[in-house]
Amino acid sequence: MEALDKLKAVAQNPYAYASNLKQVTDKPVVGNFCSYTPEELIVAAGGIPFRLFGTKEDISMADAHLQAYCCSLVRGGLEDALKGNLSFLDGTVFPHTCDSIQRLSDIWRLNAGFPFHIDVVLPVKLNTESARIYMIDVLKTFRSDLESALHVSVTEEKIRQSVKLYNRLREILGEIYEMRCNDPDSISAADLYHVIKASMVMDRDELLELLTALRDDLKKNLKDSTLNKKKRIILSGGICNHPDIYTALEESGAEIIWDDLCTGTRCFEGEIAETVDPIEAIADRYMTRMVCPAKHLSATARGENLVRLVKERDASGVIFMFLKFCDPHAFDYPYLKKFLDDAGIPNILLEVEEQLPSDAQLKTRFETFVDMIR
Ligand code: SF4
Ligand code: SF4
Repeated sequence: MEALDKLKAVAQNPYAYASNLKQVTDKPVVGNFCSYTPEELIVAAGGIPFRLFGTKEDISMADAHLQAYCCSLVRGGLEDALKGNLSFLDGTVFPHTCDSIQRLSDIWRLNAGFPFHIDVVLPVKLNTESARIYMIDVLKTFRSDLESALHVSVTEEKIRQSVKLYNRLREILGEIYEMRCNDPDSISAADLYHVIKASMVMDRDELLELLTALRDDLKKNLKDSTLNKKKRIILSGGICNHPDIYTALEESGAEIIWDDLCTGTRCFEGEIAETVDPIEAIADRYMTRMVCPAKHLSATARGENLVRLVKERDASGVIFMFLKFCDPHAFDYPYLKKFLDDAGIPNILLEVEEQLPSDAQLKTRFETFVDMIR
């Protein structure tokens, strides 16, 4: 599958992809760390939203600015910025989410040295009409901040075109997820992870072509899902930067058939209405999409959502996976676990760092979990 190979190549070396892109296009590349970044407005401004995932290098320079107990995403992102590994970025956007991202924003503004830096101070509670009105205002401010930073006019027509593009991209990613949920042999979980990662960094027009081709390739080879006898698992947490985890799980007799991850469904769930004011429609997607733990919908929304997902997707268990020192996910975990325990759904927690435990250790944990489900 040529499209899959191209997407994997981007995901495996996103910095090289972005650097090459800068040679052939004048589109600004805009770094960000979070799925609350209003990407549709960046694309409407002619830019390429580029998700940052931390670093694979040892962290040394960032430690002069951040405590060692910040998550590795934040420390690794700053490390790459300070080392000059992100020189292809034209600027960065920081949505107001967890404390670590907010503090990183201040440090980044003072030290990273990119041409522009925009904070998007989104509301935390996403369940009131006043929050919606505030959200719309914040998005309008972001639109004018982008216009000033990039010296462009972000017209309503450009936003509408971008919304259409994003709806198309998200629809196709959703279709690919559905295909894998129904036929886990159609594409490996590690490959699907690469597809999602590439989707967060590529030129979105190029991405649409590749995703369409991949979706069509996969459709041709769908099989009867009952042939796959592995245990169906849902992953819940923040970002995963470890395709090896998916492979270890598969080798332990499990299939990740759905997720509740920032590097997963959180980046494509929620359609944006195309027949109303586009900024209000973008705000409404944020107001109705299932929240991450850095936002608030209700005291039980995420727990109810997880139990619903397990039932809807015919899953047998949940693996919680988040980065060490990630306070938002760590704070939500006990109550989510209780929701699953009360519903009789087996679950385990895997806290991850840039360096994973050995393959053997991982497989032992996963095999024990799969045996527990049996
Ligand atoms: S968990 Fe929430 S705040 Fe953290 S990166 Fe994901 S979407 Fe953003
Ligand atoms: S939500 Fe967690 S993993 Fe994401 S930036 Fe914040 S602390 Fe780090």
